[in-house]
Amino acid sequence: MRGGLRTSAQTAITRAVHDHPGVTRAEVAAQIGIPSGFAAETVGRLVATRLVSERPALATGRRGRPTTSLHAHPDGPLVAVAAITHDTWQVAAVELGGTKVAATQRPHHRNQARVLDAVTAELGQVSRRFGTRVRAAAVAVPGTVAGSELVHAPGLAWHSIDLSALWPHYEPGGEFVAGNDASLAGVAESRHGAGAGAGAMVYLHLDAGLGGTLIEAGRAVRGATGTAGEFGHMPFGEPARRCRCGARGCWNTSVDGRALARLLHQRVPADDVSYSRRVLASARAGQPRALSAIRTVGSSIGRGIAGLVNGLDPHLVVVGGLGSDLLHIAADEVTAAYHDGLMAFRATPPPPVLPARLGTDGPLLGAAAEAFARLLTDEGLQAWVS
Ligand SMILES: [Zn+2]
Repeated sequence: MRGGLRTSAQTAITRAVHDHPGVTRAEVAAQIGIPSGFAAETVGRLVATRLVSERPALATGRRGRPTTSLHAHPDGPLVAVAAITHDTWQVAAVELGGTKVAATQRPHHRNQARVLDAVTAELGQVSRRFGTRVRAAAVAVPGTVAGSELVHAPGLAWHSIDLSALWPHYEPGGEFVAGNDASLAGVAESRHGAGAGAGAMVYLHLDAGLGGTLIEAGRAVRGATGTAGEFGHMPFGEPARRCRCGARGCWNTSVDGRALARLLHQRVPADDVSYSRRVLASARAGQPRALSAIRTVGSSIGRGIAGLVNGLDPHLVVVGGLGSDLLHIAADEVTAAYHDGLMAFRATPPPPVLPARLGTDGPLLGAAAEAFARLLTDEGLQAWVS
């Protein structure tokens, strides 16, 4: 019994350090409800097993035993993570608490074989450099992911890719996670960003289309095949318009780069994420036609957020990717359409709609969070200690 208690206290403290690096030993003891002597003893064990490091905490003026602040151990466990976007890839080793200890980022030209080879090589490099400190791996990609298969990435025109091939140590059922970039960015925002501490949160991410996730009680709702959060494929668009997913009427067809090109009477862009980014920049600079197109898209986003809030009942909505920029530029249109579409009883006051805080690192940090979730269990930590 004592051994079980000790194990779960170790896991609880390690998780607390992961969620709030720099937390004091006294705060953790209070948070998980253990006596300070037992906390000091357990932290000592975590330091000895290279999970956590301890530093003297600043004096608080309180009496009693001086406390310490708790951090990732410099030789502690790491996760190897990769994030592929429509025009870059990044590979990093991330320590407890979500800090990158090594990272490589490169631009790419959407050549599938070259990008996958480069990411595989870099993940192999991280594995060789850090050896057994690397306990899990995770990959974020801009497309629909079921299990470890990238079903379709519309912005890259990639289909049916087995992402487990990217991790040299992959074993079925092992410590490897693949996920949609938008959903993973939502996981990261709920842990370390704009949604930290919120109960139920809808995260909406605008990139090649709209994606995201519903977070409840700290966990992403995944659905039957793990593909929940494809919000851009809800039929909030024009009913007759065909989406790249095969369905008609998807919300994406009203908000993506192609939609902007239609509004601006321009040709269908080859790279619609870069195109959207350019239109946003023109709108920010006050170019009237770009501004008008962005405002139209803003209304559609606001209306859709109302639909999500009516249907899912979150405490708050966080908007990321190109969406945080759009939220800023078309604030009035987003807000007006959001309030118009809300059920009256939800409007007093409406759940806040906030911009994401983690910027372009969201998907990578979300991948790290999912990989650490595999590690920060009683079993995962036992395996590290032994
Ligand atoms: Zn669709």
